[in-house]
Amino acid sequence: MYSTCIHCHASLGANETIEQFPVGRRLAFDPAKGRLWVICPQCRQWNLSPLDERWEAIESAERLYRDSKLRASTDQVGLARMRDGTELIRIGAPVLPEMAAWRYGPRFETRYRRHVIGVAAAATIVGGYLVAGPVLGVVAGGAWGAPMNVLSLGRILVGARRVVARIDDEEGPGTLTSWHLATSRVIALPDDPLRWGISIQVKRQDVAIGRYGKVADAKDPRITLSGERARAAAGMILTRANSTGGRRRAVDDAVRLLERFDSPQRGYLQAAAIFRNEGSSMKRGGIAALPIELRLAMEMATHEESERRALEGELAALEASWKEAEEIAAIADSLTLPEQVLTRLERLAGRL
Ligand SMILES: [Zn+2]
Repeated sequence: MYSTCIHCHASLGANETIEQFPVGRRLAFDPAKGRLWVICPQCRQWNLSPLDERWEAIESAERLYRDSKLRASTDQVGLARMRDGTELIRIGAPVLPEMAAWRYGPRFETRYRRHVIGVAAAATIVGGYLVAGPVLGVVAGGAWGAPMNVLSLGRILVGARRVVARIDDEEGPGTLTSWHLATSRVIALPDDPLRWGISIQVKRQDVAIGRYGKVADAKDPRITLSGERARAAAGMILTRANSTGGRRRAVDDAVRLLERFDSPQRGYLQAAAIFRNEGSSMKRGGIAALPIELRLAMEMATHEESERRALEGELAALEASWKEAEEIAAIADSLTLPEQVLTRLERLAGRL
């Protein structure tokens, strides 16, 4: 078995994923044609594996690919990332249903619980700010009637002035405080590719995250975010809104809810329907006031989708290199010479 690249002689690395074929960190396989390549980490060229070594390895690769929860595919190329970091690139018609890939299942629960424990300490403070939002909605409106102690007043002022995120758009810089986060809503945008967006109030000022700006005001303009901006804002708001985590039952409910979603957008469309139907009572607390199992499920779907999209970004490049490698493989297979001989010939040629 070879361990260096035919093209550049760099080491192909090793994996612990495929017992029968421990060479390479990135393996490409075509189960229909029985081909297996190791992709060189250095020059990105595809190295065809010798005939006698590939069959069992292809079977294992196919099994691991089907079991993988983290995978993405186009019409001809699929990519799955294994737990040890090994990547499997599958050539051929996609394994259905691809949608199962973004579903979390029990593995997520464990991860989420760990996350919940991790943020518990910080969450108390963040939770305070988020509670302050709806209260300040009244304050900023001019009704200073309710008696407040110094602590809660302090929290409210911090929450209304400290910039936690920025949204810079065509109109210029925009800042968000915890107060602004509480004005967030999910809205349906039927004509947009994403089909949903975020409506939120912003302060038009150029202040860095973590700094203090002007106090939030009920008159701050409301803007609509779509596409990438909506995704980014939703991720940030959900992370904060869910930072206190959920009790076991809420997390279980969220996982069940997520499993019923027929697309990653489903949670957002449900949230948009709640904002539309429930009116002002929902609008006070923003996204943080949505039912906890829905908020958790939306965050789970968002994480899963962003990982999947990162994989998809690599697919186009992979498809191009596969076509090239496929031509070489077709020639190699049509020759009667064993490939190991061919490999040696190529190596010899490289030295001449
Ligand atoms: Zn190479």
